[in-house]
Amino acid sequence: MADDVLQMPLQYLKGVGPRKAADLKKAGLNTVEDLLFRFPRRYEDRSRLQNIISLKPGQTAAISGVVLNAGLAHTRRPGFRLFSALIQDDSGQVQAVWPNQAFLKDVIRSQQRIVLFGKVEIWGSRGLQITDPEFEIIADEPKPSSPQPGPQRGNRAGVEVLKPASDTIHTGRIVPVYERTGSVTPNMQRRFVWQALEQLAQEPFDPVPADILAEQQWPSRRDALCKAHFPDSDTSVDALNAFTTPAQRRLIFEDFFVFQTGLALRRHENAQVKKTLVSKVDDRIRQCARAVLPFKLTAGQRDALAEVVADLQKPWPMQRLLQGDVGAGKTIVALLAAVVAMENGFQVAVMAPTEILAEQHFRTIVKVLDGKPYRTALLSGRVTAATRRDLLPAIERGDINLVVGTHALVQETVKFKSLALAVIDEQHRFGVVQRGTLAAKGLNPDVLVMTATPIPRTLALTECGDMEVSVIRGLPPGRKPIKTIVKADSRRDEAYAVMRDEVAKGRQVYVIYPLVEESEKIDLRAATAMAAELTLVFPEYRVALLHGRMKGDEKENVMRAFLAGALQILVSTTVVEVGVDVANATVMVIEHAERFGLSQLHQLRGRIGRGEHASTCILLYQAPWSDDARARLKAMSDTSDGFVIAERDLQLRGPGDFFGTRQSGLPTLRAGDLTRDVDLLERAFEEARKRVDAGTLTAVQQDYVRSVWQRQFGLITVG
Ligand code: ADP
Ligand code: MG
Repeated sequence: MADDVLQMPLQYLKGVGPRKAADLKKAGLNTVEDLLFRFPRRYEDRSRLQNIISLKPGQTAAISGVVLNAGLAHTRRPGFRLFSALIQDDSGQVQAVWPNQAFLKDVIRSQQRIVLFGKVEIWGSRGLQITDPEFEIIADEPKPSSPQPGPQRGNRAGVEVLKPASDTIHTGRIVPVYERTGSVTPNMQRRFVWQALEQLAQEPFDPVPADILAEQQWPSRRDALCKAHFPDSDTSVDALNAFTTPAQRRLIFEDFFVFQTGLALRRHENAQVKKTLVSKVDDRIRQCARAVLPFKLTAGQRDALAEVVADLQKPWPMQRLLQGDVGAGKTIVALLAAVVAMENGFQVAVMAPTEILAEQHFRTIVKVLDGKPYRTALLSGRVTAATRRDLLPAIERGDINLVVGTHALVQETVKFKSLALAVIDEQHRFGVVQRGTLAAKGLNPDVLVMTATPIPRTLALTECGDMEVSVIRGLPPGRKPIKTIVKADSRRDEAYAVMRDEVAKGRQVYVIYPLVEESEKIDLRAATAMAAELTLVFPEYRVALLHGRMKGDEKENVMRAFLAGALQILVSTTVVEVGVDVANATVMVIEHAERFGLSQLHQLRGRIGRGEHASTCILLYQAPWSDDARARLKAMSDTSDGFVIAERDLQLRGPGDFFGTRQSGLPTLRAGDLTRDVDLLERAFEEARKRVDAGTLTAVQQDYVRSVWQRQFGLITVG
């Protein structure tokens, strides 16, 4: 059966021993299917064989000829060995050299017919050479009279297309070039893929619905796999390298479609769940919500709130992602939804990724709900055992209406009487997996996830495709734009000058240090030293240090002092990333800005520009900086639109790193690329949802998707 071939472990392929199988496994390649869905990194046209006489320096060319002589050449560099071979075709001769590959003396021998592909270079006074070419030995003992597979004489262009022999796989055709995986070279992988395709004699089950295949005129699954690796000779190499041939696009779509169908099934099953705590909304409740509102909502906030409140009234649990730029005002939207749930007599849990943020949310919530009849509690790691002993039963009795905490809230033994709404802040650090925890505890509350910074649309579709998405566009009125300056560390005096001006006007300053886990101690020392230096530079002002290793109440004291304006300069590690909200802070200096990710920089910058005063963000970098770092900092000074920054970040980092692979439940997609194949992803998303909701997928199709999810994404279950 063809499907059995696809699921065959790679060590059953000829030439894949335990060592190679282990290396392939490390690269995520376990089965034949994995191998076939790992596209080449690029394609090279080696089908056009050139006359040796027509070679020009600088070209990359394919030639075919006979080896006249071959051997290891002497060089003056000790330890350096050069293997060289003289190749001849009907038009002339050329030297081919392979640096440091002495083993070739046992591979390439005189009288072999060989095809080479490589770079043509000038070789001193002796003419041209081809350096380190890829090669394929066509035959060991050529009959001298047999026609060369090369070009004919008299061809004026000196170039002719060779009809590739069906069994040359490395040359004489459009050739796939793979990433090297451990001990498996690109050439070996090419052979393995070829072998796998030979074994795939029958058409395997095709998860792409037939009507889509017909509409797009896409090839069958088997055909597409063959053509994506060993394209027909008339295929455009440019199209191949852009991954836009029908065969490639079909496979990319398949990849997305199967994944999206899994998400859609999950979403569909979720909508079958009956929730016990369904909110109602009437004029009295609307009035209560209005009563807590400290300002007029923006249009974006109103729309998002309407979507959330509609979900609260539905019979199945909400799964909604609330997106908005830093400072867009997501908190109040969540809080108003909380008021609706509480007015219905239900409980609400608000969860944040860090204690500092949980405490900050708690303060905000207490302030907004001041004088209202809701009982709120903070359940952080810092509450005393005694308080905890009182709180837990009160929550279980339903005496507490709203609980704020870290995500430990759902993981530990907190029991609720009637938890109707769970607000989860900062999606970055929660990920798909943690979201499952609530359900695992037998709870089916409405879930509202708020992101720290915008997520690119394509990632929202993959990471959160089983959720509904609300987007708050724009910022509340009256925000002053933030000026962003990129400066070399050597010019920090200029940063100090800006700080001095602002502090003199009564404003406050953040100085941010990166805290990378591997070098946590060193960075902490650097931050501590900087706080000491700034105390000397600004003797007339108060400088303090804030970092994650401090005890909770120390942190709390520093933050309170900064909030109260008693501190002018706060030197901090990234704990303020999600933390403090101080409208009077107008300057942020980010040290080692080159070390931060783009979204993180944006998130940090969002801590200023929150008040009525104009703000400045200074990004200090330490030379030398990488091209990537340069691109990141440029993006920061180019725009302050979080949605634009998120897209740039995705392009620069790739999807795996966007959320930070460790925290993310994001399964790796095989063939698809979230920045390149956006249109296919959108289509797959729509088709999958449409077909799942309409119930038009066959049982076989659904089973197939479930089995793929099981295999590939293991811990996540579908439906
Ligand atoms: P984020 O979306 O980053 O979580 P917040 O909810 O913390 O943003 O809101 C940022 C700031 O903007 C807060 O100080 C909040 O009080 C204020 N804010 C939110 N919405 C409005 C609004 N409609 N009008 C005025 N200020 C607002
Ligand atoms: Mg927030």
